[in-house]
Amino acid sequence: MQYQEIYKQGVSALKKAGIEEASLDARLLLEEVCGTDRTALYVHGEKELTGQQEKEYLEKIRLRAERIPLQHILGKTEFMGLTFLVNRDVLCPRPDTEILVEEVMKYLHDGMRILDIGTGSGCILLSLLHYSNDCQGVGADISESALRTAKGNAERLSAEQVCFVESNLFEHVEGQFEIIVSNPPYIKSSDIEDLMPEVKDHDPRSALDGGEDGLFFYRKITGRAKEHLPGGGMLFYEIGCEQGKAVSGIMEEQGFRDIQIVKDFSGLDRVVFGTWY
Ligand code: GLN
Repeated sequence: MQYQEIYKQGVSALKKAGIEEASLDARLLLEEVCGTDRTALYVHGEKELTGQQEKEYLEKIRLRAERIPLQHILGKTEFMGLTFLVNRDVLCPRPDTEILVEEVMKYLHDGMRILDIGTGSGCILLSLLHYSNDCQGVGADISESALRTAKGNAERLSAEQVCFVESNLFEHVEGQFEIIVSNPPYIKSSDIEDLMPEVKDHDPRSALDGGEDGLFFYRKITGRAKEHLPGGGMLFYEIGCEQGKAVSGIMEEQGFRDIQIVKDFSGLDRVVFGTWY
């Protein structure tokens, strides 16, 4: 079959499965299978796939139509202009989380120490290290398998000053950090069933479920973060879009100052941060 023809077939199968980004996903899968880029696809639409490529592509379309996340089928995703390995053991990096990284970068100076609580794929910590000089990073996660993925990503990005600890929040974390960052699980337990199948069935539950009111981990982390922050140290969170007030309140109660809420590109609250004096 030709590129154009099989691509159309892919789009229509994904549309039928209710996938919003059907055209984009069908194209990215075709690019992956054929090792081409977008231009080749348009300019050489009449090019024939090999039998093997055809089989591979249709299999990937079948998986995507079953609502397996595109990132899982590709085994990787882009975040902050970098490529990260992803799998079922880690939350797929989201564009929303780039807002968190970009906010931290405004305050990050050379040589700082950064702690990432619930590091998952490592995308937040490793991006911060990649775009700074001489900073040291510690990524903590309760999941050993998530840490395996984070370490793989650290290797691929040649991150040098980074270490990962298996730790339930701060349990095995030692030392002081000028910056503590976290994208903790923040979905209310009762809302999880309403999420898209790609999220509720394929992202780790333990990376989504923020307890009855979604705020469980903000309370836990904010209380303990103070022990690991020097005066002037900062705590940054990604939040759910309705949690700005509540998370600011938790930080204020715990003695953080200069608390700010940052919006994402949709105008929704996405990041809260504050300083410990
Ligand atoms: N942003 C994710 C979602 O909307 C949730 C990630 C999290 O709980 N930290 O699915």
